[in-house]
Amino acid sequence: MRYSIINVLKQGLAGQKGWQAAWRDATPKPQYDVVIVGGGGHGLATAYYLAKLHGITNVAVLEKGWIGSGNTGRNTTIVRSNYLLPGNEPFYEHSLKLWEGMSRDLNFNVMFSQRGVLNLCHSDAQRDAYARRGNAMLMMGADAELLDADQVRRMVRGLDFQNPRFPITGGLLQRRGGTARHDAVAWGYARAASELGVDIIQNCEVTGFVRDDDRITAVETSRGRIAAGKVGLAVAGHSSLLAEMAGIRLPIESHVLQAFVSEGLKPWIDTVVTFGAGHFYISQSDKGGLVFGGDIDGYASYAQRGNLPVVEHVAAGAVALFPALGRVRLLRSWGGVMDMTPDGSPIIGKLPIGNLYMTGGWCYGGFKATPASGWCLAHTIANDAPHALNEAMSLERFARGRAIDERGAGPRPNLH
Ligand SMILES: Cc1cc2nc3c(=O)[nH]c(=O)nc-3n(C[C@H](O)[C@H](O)[C@H](O)COP(=O)(O)OP(=O)(O)OC[C@H]3O[C@@H](n4cnc5c(N)ncnc54)[C@H](O)[C@@H]3O)c2cc1C
Repeated sequence: MRYSIINVLKQGLAGQKGWQAAWRDATPKPQYDVVIVGGGGHGLATAYYLAKLHGITNVAVLEKGWIGSGNTGRNTTIVRSNYLLPGNEPFYEHSLKLWEGMSRDLNFNVMFSQRGVLNLCHSDAQRDAYARRGNAMLMMGADAELLDADQVRRMVRGLDFQNPRFPITGGLLQRRGGTARHDAVAWGYARAASELGVDIIQNCEVTGFVRDDDRITAVETSRGRIAAGKVGLAVAGHSSLLAEMAGIRLPIESHVLQAFVSEGLKPWIDTVVTFGAGHFYISQSDKGGLVFGGDIDGYASYAQRGNLPVVEHVAAGAVALFPALGRVRLLRSWGGVMDMTPDGSPIIGKLPIGNLYMTGGWCYGGFKATPASGWCLAHTIANDAPHALNEAMSLERFARGRAIDERGAGPRPNLH
């Protein structure tokens, strides 16, 4: 059933009785050509592109909870493609282009709002680094603008330009960046994949793999054994656990990342602003709440909740940038499990078992990558080889010393 103005009018006149469930609540079949583990945005997008672009429709997405219950439904929804390195930037720019057409493609309003992403800089050296990054982005086909302090002042109200410790000297703006509605991304991909024949199976935890030499023949689940031709992992913070079930040790650490929402306010910040001298980023939701976050908690954990020192750290970043925020009340906070890699860049590709593939290692930033991650993993599964966009993101890069170290933080997952 298409969502359209005609159908809204028709259903309105018919008492809203004719709407169908957005996706089928499927019961597991004994066998699938492809089993995707993880019903977050990445797993659902992978299934959708497998069906839509590669004609592979005998696909199941197995989710241990409800779809979008992981990081997809817990993030601060910042979407951007402001990366520096050739291994990253074309991938994220492809993702941004997919975001731009997503609502139309899925026939589902994901509320993608291109309100801009502004990275503040606080020293001349940082401004030089942003100029370099902006030029790299332009050369790779993305958009970027370097703003001076006056342009920033005109764009964002309430910033502290008098702060002697963190003076604002300008910013790097990507106007095509912005935010989206996180749940809608999961629901939109689920609905579109289900319409193409994909089975979305919730409350189905994968507990092990059945192996025959170099191949996985089936997955063990809380709802029984399911035979699989190929298996794709899209389990974010649980990547190392699932890989371990298959006998593979991944260079991924799981850490908690918290996010926060304030009480509802009148429209104040109409773009995304990030602090350049600490870890703090903020935007305002359509409901008026300020949505913000900061650094990971810094200790390995699978808990979806964090601790108070990071709350204090984030609050300090908030008032250093926007002193008026000191009077705003916090409404909610929550945590997600981040899949941190040593170089801060993801892994999309084949694992060292014949028919096992993964997307993971998204660190703080996998929401923006949702469409391209699914697109690339689907390509890799269908062709048994990576696409040019994810070729550099292989697991082997760590053995070969070909890290994609965007931030230059070295081999410490908790520092990225
Ligand atoms: C607080 C916070 C803020 C963030 N902010 C941003 C941001 O502003 N911008 C950005 O780009 N990114 C951000 N991220 C990162 C982003 O949310 C993630 O990288 C992205 O959503 C990962 O999507 P996913 O589909 O891979 O993972 P998830 O949505 O976590 O999906 C994985 C799914 O796998 C399921 N699963 C796990 N184990 C099993 C099993 N054994 N069997 C079956 N299913 C299983 C889980 O239940 C889960 O639903 C943030 C993350 C957090 C936590």
